[in-house]
Amino acid sequence: MRRIVIVGGGYAGFTAARELEKGLRRELRGGDVELVLVDPRPYMTYQPFLPEVMAGSVEARHAAVAHRSHLRRTRLVDGSVTRVDHADRVVVVRPRSGEPYRLPYDTVVVTAGAVTRVFPVPGVAEQAIGMKHVEEAVAIRDRLLTSFDRAASLPRGPERQRLLTVTFVGGGFSGVEGFAELLSLAHDLLPRYPEIDAAELRFHLVELSDRILPEVTDRPGRWVVEQLERRGAHVHLGTGLESAAGGVVTLSTGESFPSGLLVWAAGNAANPVVATHTDLPVDRRGYVVVRPDLRVGTDDAPVDDAWAAGDGAAVPDLAVPRPGALAVPNAQHAVRQGRRLARNLVADLRGRPTRPYVHGSLGVIATLGLGSGVFQFRRVVVRGLLAWLMHRGYHLLAIPTWERKARVLAVWTTAALFGRDVVSLASVQTPRAAFAAATTPDGAGRAQPDQEVAA
Ligand SMILES: Cc1cc2nc3c(=O)[nH]c(=O)nc-3n(C[C@H](O)[C@H](O)[C@H](O)COP(=O)(O)OP(=O)(O)OC[C@H]3O[C@@H](n4cnc5c(N)ncnc54)[C@H](O)[C@@H]3O)c2cc1C
Repeated sequence: MRRIVIVGGGYAGFTAARELEKGLRRELRGGDVELVLVDPRPYMTYQPFLPEVMAGSVEARHAAVAHRSHLRRTRLVDGSVTRVDHADRVVVVRPRSGEPYRLPYDTVVVTAGAVTRVFPVPGVAEQAIGMKHVEEAVAIRDRLLTSFDRAASLPRGPERQRLLTVTFVGGGFSGVEGFAELLSLAHDLLPRYPEIDAAELRFHLVELSDRILPEVTDRPGRWVVEQLERRGAHVHLGTGLESAAGGVVTLSTGESFPSGLLVWAAGNAANPVVATHTDLPVDRRGYVVVRPDLRVGTDDAPVDDAWAAGDGAAVPDLAVPRPGALAVPNAQHAVRQGRRLARNLVADLRGRPTRPYVHGSLGVIATLGLGSGVFQFRRVVVRGLLAWLMHRGYHLLAIPTWERKARVLAVWTTAALFGRDVVSLASVQTPRAAFAAATTPDGAGRAQPDQEVAA
């Protein structure tokens, strides 16, 4: 039996596994091939929906596509790969419980994605929340809602101002989308909080370079900044975060303010399992080197039985007429690379030729909060409501499986009728608090769960 181990079931890995289940149906049924997917999460995260999860426009669960519901012929392993020893054809798996073990394979598919890029800024590790996972999006939303509740019952002053101050670091796509969606949510909340004035909201977007959204050209980029500023946001371009120690944000301009919420969205870095824990070839940034057909290695030095795709791989972009161009790390590429990888792997097993991965960009599109967006394809730019509708339409088509599409559409329809859901469930992070309080002699000996989360 030939064992194919897929490391990571995100966009590229999940798509590759589904395609391999189709392409190797006969072999899987006959027991000639075993497909194994290792991932510490039992689902693929549809990351483009995370900004809308933050804003309460998409249910958190609907941004996650369960592996078990859609990969019926794949053995799913709940754990992290901590090493890929390709010379020995073995991955080391650290399961959620129990001791790490070695899992031998015949073919490895490395689709572990990238991790959040962090810089050693004082206070960030203790204060900031990332923006790559469902739980982070939910926590950001709950934190804002809880802050509103607490601020509404405080007199004007430093603590109330801290609670109503939000800082995002990183003006790339995820940072801008998250920032704009949260700003949109905050403005929607105001009519329900007559105690809070719009002028009290302080939303800061901090970006080191002198522009945001590097994937769009200067003009639409400037338009987005103007849009955000018109809605009361402070966009700090050419500015770095110097410190977040003690929850006080200090910028390279010298400006300093306490911020109740700090979100870190400063881009991607190589996944350590790929960058430093494998004998597969990696480039100087730590991304797996692959050929255009997604086999690991180069044309001169291909590596047998190893394939890679997605954000964690340095994939040549043949659609860009520039020597050495690499595919941009985004979902548009990752999902298509996963599919191409699986088809090439099947072709290779059957002794047929492989095909290079070629995908001309479909353009870039971003949501800027309810009813506003921006889209660019070459010189064509669409802004405002139409771009936002295009964003929703595109992602509804793109999210895998009909079941997920139906669920997301149902939530959007309900929100169109009744408005968005503004309940904070921050208390789920301390599920025993109420019970523990009930068991104390006076029945009220513990902190309120929401306070613990929002502290
Ligand atoms: C907030 C946000 C919004 C975005 N919006 C867009 C958008 O609108 N359009 C777009 O094209 N792109 C967007 N992207 C980018 C897009 O989501 C990524 O490019 C895409 O997810 C990359 O797919 P991937 O399979 O390489 O990695 P991922 O989807 O990140 O999957 C990696 C998987 O590997 C698993 N894993 C990690 N380490 C290990 C390990 N050691 N062992 C086993 N498994 C491991 C992870 O749990 C995960 O399941 C967005 C990203 C973010 C964060």
